[in-house]
Amino acid sequence: MRIKWFAFLAFVLISPKLAVAADTPKVLFLGIDGCRFDALRKANTPNLDRLIDRGIYADNTRIFHARYTTADTISGPGWSSILTGVWADKHGVLDNQFKVSHYDKFPHLFVRAKEQLPETKTASLVCWAPIDQYIVASADKRYSFTEKDYGERDDAATDEAVKQLSDASIDVVFLYLGATDEAGHASGFHPANPKYVETIQAADARIGRVLAAIESRASYQDEDWLVVVTSDHGGKGTSHSNGHEVPEIFNSFLIVSGDSAERGKFETDTYIVDASATVLKHLGIDAPEDWQLDGQPVGLKK
Ligand SMILES: [Zn+2]
Repeated sequence: MRIKWFAFLAFVLISPKLAVAADTPKVLFLGIDGCRFDALRKANTPNLDRLIDRGIYADNTRIFHARYTTADTISGPGWSSILTGVWADKHGVLDNQFKVSHYDKFPHLFVRAKEQLPETKTASLVCWAPIDQYIVASADKRYSFTEKDYGERDDAATDEAVKQLSDASIDVVFLYLGATDEAGHASGFHPANPKYVETIQAADARIGRVLAAIESRASYQDEDWLVVVTSDHGGKGTSHSNGHEVPEIFNSFLIVSGDSAERGKFETDTYIVDASATVLKHLGIDAPEDWQLDGQPVGLKK
């Protein structure tokens, strides 16, 4: 018996596959403002398609919960919910004025990650200034892009994301793209609007660049990248305010992709607040009860 045990131990020590520790969890968190999933499906999006194929997705992720529907169906409450993992009755943001907020009690997920794992390295790249101004905290690197045109902002943010991903120590990158929402407001949130669909294709191309940057990391083989993609609302006509009864507005989507993700389509309800809970879980963080998160980890194998 003892001889067999030593033989096994020797095998473990010399076998690289068994002796290597588990791959390091890493996260790419992507936000596409005002992106309708039916338009995403209409668009030519090879990179998002690949993420869906290698993960799990929902096409009816809710942007608010039946428990609480006072906040408007716009970016301020939406990104607050996505990035804090709680609904607006907790984070306090009801509109894009940010006059009231409770981020001290219900902070950005980077704050939670650092609380539990202080070594976590984070980067935030956003093209809508209020996210950086009000919501983001505890980012090691943070950038807010303010070029006049949202396409230019998205390009600049993507360039910076590629740069940040060349840093071997980076753990979580949040990248927000805004041109799709701008196009929706200008000419209509609809799959039959080619201008709107084009911006989704442009977002997909940018995501392709970021995914290539991940795959070219020297340490890629030892890393377990989870890619999470969502949006803060859809749209109808050229608006998305007051969309509590409008499925084209209140349905977002959620993609959870990577080796650690399940496959197929979500069979249970998903909510935008689930995104940050999922990111934290992948990093190895189980949210303590006193965080009062409304979101739950979804789509992960374990
Ligand atoms: Zn928005």
